[in-house]
Amino acid sequence: MGKGNIEVSSFDLDKYVRKVPDFPKKGILFYDITSILAAPLAFQFCIDRMMEIYKDKNIHAVAAIEARGFLFAAPFAARMGIPLIPIRKKGKLPGVTLSKKYDLEYAQAEIEVHSADVPRGKRVLLTDDLIATGGTLNAARSLLTEGGAEVPEIFGVVGLPFLNYKKALDPTPVVTLINYHGE
Ligand code: AMP
Repeated sequence: MGKGNIEVSSFDLDKYVRKVPDFPKKGILFYDITSILAAPLAFQFCIDRMMEIYKDKNIHAVAAIEARGFLFAAPFAARMGIPLIPIRKKGKLPGVTLSKKYDLEYAQAEIEVHSADVPRGKRVLLTDDLIATGGTLNAARSLLTEGGAEVPEIFGVVGLPFLNYKKALDPTPVVTLINYHGE
C-alpha cells in the first residue's frame, strides 16, 4: 500500500478480535467482537470504515441481525442519519411482522422484522457482526426482499470465507473488514 493510503491498512483490527477455542462447543474457534467494543479506537475504526464504504452508495436504511449485529449498525445508522431495521428472533418484536424460517446445522430457526419497517423499493444495507455460513443473512435477505426492499450489499465486520458465505449470499456483494481462514 502506498504512503498516501496508509490509514486503512495500518489499523490492526485482528489485535482486537478475541479468539476463544472450543466455544460455544468443542471444535469451534469463536471470534469474539466484544473486545472491539471495549477498545474505542477499534470500534471507531469499524464505524468509520462503514461510513467510508457506504456513504455515497445511496443506502436508504441499514438492517441488522440480533444481537451483535445491532452494536455496529446502530452507531452507523445514527451517523448516516438513516433508519435502523432490527431483525430479531421469533417472538421478540411486538408489532405486525414478516417472518422467515431457515435451517441451522441440526435445527430450524426463525427470524422476524416489523413489516412497517421494510421500505418498499428502497435500498437496504444488510449487516451482521460476523459472517460464517451466511445462513442467517440469507434468510434475512429473503425477509427484506419478500417485504419489497432491495438488498444491494451485505456487510460484516468479520468474515469466515472458508465456510463459503459468498456462495450462500450470491449474487449480493459482501464486504468484511477482516477475514479469518480457519477454525
Ligand atoms: P451464520 O448464519 O453461519 O453466518 O452465522 C450465524 C451467527 O453465528 C453470526 O451472526 C455470528 O455472530 C455467529 N457465529 C457463527 N460462527 C461463529 C464463530 N466462529 N465465531 C463467532 N461467531 C460466530
